[in-house]
Amino acid sequence: ERLIELRDIKKSYGNVFAVGGVSLHVDRGEVVGLLGDNGAGKSTLIKILAGAVRPSHGQIFVRGKEVPGWSPARSRDAGIETVFQDRALAVQQTIVRNIFMGREITTAMGFLDVAKERSEAERLMREIGFTSKVFSPDSIVGQLSGGERQGVAIARAIYNKADLIILDEPTTALSLTETEKVFRFVRTVRESGRSILFIGHNIHHVFDIAERFIVLDRGRVALEITKDEAKSAE
Ligand code: ADP
Ligand code: ADP
Repeated sequence: ERLIELRDIKKSYGNVFAVGGVSLHVDRGEVVGLLGDNGAGKSTLIKILAGAVRPSHGQIFVRGKEVPGWSPARSRDAGIETVFQDRALAVQQTIVRNIFMGREITTAMGFLDVAKERSEAERLMREIGFTSKVFSPDSIVGQLSGGERQGVAIARAIYNKADLIILDEPTTALSLTETEKVFRFVRTVRESGRSILFIGHNIHHVFDIAERFIVLDRGRVALEITKDEAKSAE
């Protein structure tokens, strides 16, 4: 199933095209690597998918249907969740508070349902394959490693009913072992039928995890290739 498709998307700032006519799609259960140097247009495309930036041209399709008036709300309704590079986590807060930030579970009386949030947080972390030794739902996020923090942000995206999780350079600042942790979360998330758009600077960041790669260069798709094609080209 075609989850999301962009057709001929353009975005210009003044007379500079940050994105100059990009068409791409992500299918259900797929991990796609989106690559490109600084200035290639990756951030602009992510912001467009999130509805935060309006394209100057082009169409967006969700599950085969064009969605007019694309916006942050439409993006959310489509099940698109972005984990930005800074992950927007409150590092002095617990895992529970970070997962439910702004979407607290309340009782029928309107009080915060702390017990339900703790067990839900535990379930979500188990669902993505989180196995930190220091983990409890009450762990302070600032005590977790870089890869584990990505896990918290991914768990939050899943709680927010993500069908497509966009990971913005999630491993760029991480060591090899931490990168492996993030890859493990991504594999688990894919097994549940969700899709991942994995943003990276270069092919090394995504080769082991993505099945298909899209390389952006100066706002255009310079190359689109599956992992199998990339392997047989070697
Ligand atoms: P990447 O994320 O791949 O580094 P960006 O999407 O950030 O690429 O940028 C693509 C191009 O668009 C760059 O030339 C950048 O300078 C330009 N650009 C991005 N955002 C803005 C903006 N808000 N105003 C003007 N130019 C921008
Ligand atoms: P990174 O290289 O991503 O920064 P760290 O070296 O900070 O990772 O963390 C390695 C391990 O130590 C992780 O499993 C993390 O959960 C644990 N850890 C890091 N800081 C603390 C802390 N202040 N208290 C308890 N455990 C911690």
